[in-house]
Parts: sequence; C-alpha cells; structure tokens
Amino acid sequence: MPGIRAPQLPPDELRAGVRQWCAEHLPHDWRERQTGASHDEFIRFQHWWFGELRAAGYAVPHWPQSWGGGFDLARQAVIFEELARADAPRLSLHFVSLHHAAGTFLDAGTPEQRDRYPPEILDGAVWCQGFSEPEAGSDLASLRTRAERRGDVYVVNGQKIWASGAADAQHCLLLVRTDPSAPKRRGISYLVMDMDSPGVLVRPIRQITGEEHFCEIFLTDVRIPVGNLIGAENDGWRVAQSTLASERGGTMIELAERLAVGLRRLLLEAAGPEGSPPTADTVVGDRLARLAREAQALRLLVRQVITRPGSELAQGAHASVVKLYYSELLQRLTAFGMELAGLDGQRATRRAPGSGWESGAWLLDHIGSWEWTIPGGTSEIQRNIIAERALGLPREPAA
Ligand SMILES: Cc1cc2nc3c(=O)[nH]c(=O)nc-3n(C[C@H](O)[C@H](O)[C@H](O)COP(=O)(O)OP(=O)(O)OC[C@H]3O[C@@H](n4cnc5c(N)ncnc54)[C@H](O)[C@@H]3O)c2cc1C
Repeated sequence: MPGIRAPQLPPDELRAGVRQWCAEHLPHDWRERQTGASHDEFIRFQHWWFGELRAAGYAVPHWPQSWGGGFDLARQAVIFEELARADAPRLSLHFVSLHHAAGTFLDAGTPEQRDRYPPEILDGAVWCQGFSEPEAGSDLASLRTRAERRGDVYVVNGQKIWASGAADAQHCLLLVRTDPSAPKRRGISYLVMDMDSPGVLVRPIRQITGEEHFCEIFLTDVRIPVGNLIGAENDGWRVAQSTLASERGGTMIELAERLAVGLRRLLLEAAGPEGSPPTADTVVGDRLARLAREAQALRLLVRQVITRPGSELAQGAHASVVKLYYSELLQRLTAFGMELAGLDGQRATRRAPGSGWESGAWLLDHIGSWEWTIPGGTSEIQRNIIAERALGLPREPAA
C-alpha cells in the first residue's frame, strides 16, 4: 500500500508505491505557489512537506530502523529517485538535521543524545552546523572559537560563518577549541549548542540572489553544559569526519536524479517552437548529447558505488569522485541552460525556495550551482583527496 513504511518491500513494489504516493500527495502547483513566498511561508511549507513524508515513512529512509528508517541502500535509492522524478520539493530546511546531525549521533552520540535528538528531529527540530570560521574553511583545523571548561559548563567565545539556515535552527553542531596548546587537530571538541542560549547572536548574510541562506554566528560567553559534548573532549576532529561524510551520502542519489530531471527540462526548452527535436541545431544537439551522456554517467557512477560490495557511498575517495563530478556537471548544465535561453537566461527570474538547482530559472540555478563545489570540501580539496587516497599520489605537505 503506498505511503506505508515497508523497508522489506521488493524494490519494484516500493517504487510503484512511492510513485503512486507522490501522485496523490504532491501538490502539482507547489512551485507556482512557493515562487515569491515569504520566508515564513517557506518554513511552513517545508515543515508541512516533511510531515507528509514522515507520515508516509519516506522522510528518513537512510536512518536505522529503530529510528524510523531501515531501508537498505538500494531501496533508499528507489525512494530518493522517485521523489526526484516527481519533482518534489527538497527538504532544504531539514537537510542538516536529517543528514549531518543524525549521522553524527549515530556515530558518536551518547545513549541519552541518541534517545533525545532523532525523535526531536522527526518532530521537526531544525539544526545548523557551526564549523567554518573566517580563516578556517578548507583548513578547518585552524578554527579559533574557544571553549573553556568551568565546572559543568563550557564557556564559548568566537565567531562562526556560512552556517546554512542558522536563523531558523534550534540546535547547532558546534566545533570549538578546548586545548589551544595541543596540535591543531587534537585540541578540538564537538558540542551541541542550543541556539536560544544567551550570548548567541545570529546575523543572516544576504547573497547576490537576494536569498539569505547563510548566517554568521557570534558567540559571547555562551554557556554549554558539559553533557552536550559529542564524543570525548579534544576528539572533535574525528567526530567531525562523520558529520562531513554524512553530507556526501545518500543525498547524492537524489541529486543525480534531480540533475537528470533538469536535463529533461533543458531538452524541452531546446526543442523548437513546434516541438522540433533539439538536434535540428547540430551545435546545440551535440552539447545536449554530451550533457545527457554525462548525466547518465553520473547515475551509473552513483549506482556503481551503491552496489559495490561492502561499500558506503559516504566513505572515502568514492564519495569525493561523485561529489566532484556532480557539482561540476551541474555547473556545465546550468551554464548551458543560461546560454541557450539567450538574454532572457541572464535575467534573475524568481524561483521557488526548496526547488533545487535545476529549476529552469537558469541564472539563479547557475549561481546556485557553486553551492555544491564549495561546502563539505571544495573541488580542489576533493581533488586532493582523490589524488592522495585513491591514486596514491604524494600527500600534500602538512600545513
Ligand atoms: C552552500 C554552502 C553551504 C555551507 N554551509 C555551511 C554550514 O552549514 N556550516 C559551516 O560551518 N560552513 C558551511 N559552508 C562553508 C564551507 O564549508 C566553506 O566555504 C568551505 O569549507 C571552503 O572554505 P572557505 O570558504 O574558507 O575557502 P578557503 O578554504 O579559504 O578556500 C579558498 C580557495 O582556496 C582553495 N584551497 C584551500 N586550501 C587548498 C588546498 N590545500 N589545496 C588546494 N586548494 C586549496 C579552495 O579550494 C578555494 O578555492 C557552506 C558553504 C557553502 C557554499
């Protein structure tokens, strides 16, 4: 029956069920209704859509069964693919909660943290990630936000930047320096910070697109209970690796599918006024054919990583190859969308928040495509990882 959580269903039945559920539950005009929506309307819509997915059992297929998930990787792929094909809204508000926070607690949370936070997330709690700082992005180990232990609290001072969605978050995954005398990676700890703690100031950053996706977070004498430590004191670097890995995990299945949906949109636009095939123009046809090949290669790459015996999509150099290829292909695709639309393609038409990066508002999509070449490790950093871990090339000299 569609919409009933059934992690053991044969993949074909699951696919048919998700498809039918999408046909019955996804408002066909959600893009039109969300385009131009206020921030509060966007937040309400995201919570509503998350609630629908949750009720159907499709919100957290990648979580363990005891947390409400339990779908294996192949079945997760089915769910993510069908949602992408139905052109469902992305859960952008909940992204850090569902991936980064959950992955971190699964790997390193205390029993109390695991009992508390995943159910809160299912009830709609929003998390943000306070890793980056001015001067500490790719070189995250240089972070300077200090936490001094005083009795049963840490007192935190410093600044974070580029925290996605922090203005709407209730909790933050916070990296702090607890031992300034230790080597850079060894003196870092990982805390849960409540965003309404006294001393937390959040300032949204307005982007060129008019959106306010990121925030700065200023921390002045913020008191965080020692019980909010994730992992051991000064072992935060190791814990942070599982947070970062979760970002490159199952979400790539969905993104590869969404890119294929974007390509279909591009093909429709390239068709002539009478629906003549885009191949009528050889140059355009050639470029579309190349993009189509690349989109298919991406899907095969993701599938290969999924089906590799014992492999985890989120782990190691495979994840870097997928992320690098996806993000740079997205740039090529959106750039071509913009080019194909001529002058109109350079107009900043509005798009629905939560619509992803292949919405057809090509200028905004193209600007937005940079969102994937930077976070969770820039393309240069991914190339370093591939060179060192997959190709065995000499390691970068330590900073
Ligand atoms: C859409 C988006 C969402 C984000 N969300 C969050 C969030 O929620 N929380 C958070 O904490 N942060 C977030 N970030 C920040 C992101 O993690 C950092 O921007 C990223 O780590 C890069 O750091 P930086 O901006 O300081 O650039 P830098 O590290 O200063 O890099 C500048 C340039 O130098 C290159 N470079 C640096 N080191 C090397 C090297 N060793 N070898 C080769 N080239 C190198 C980089 O590739 C880059 O091109 C987000 C960023 C984006 C774009």
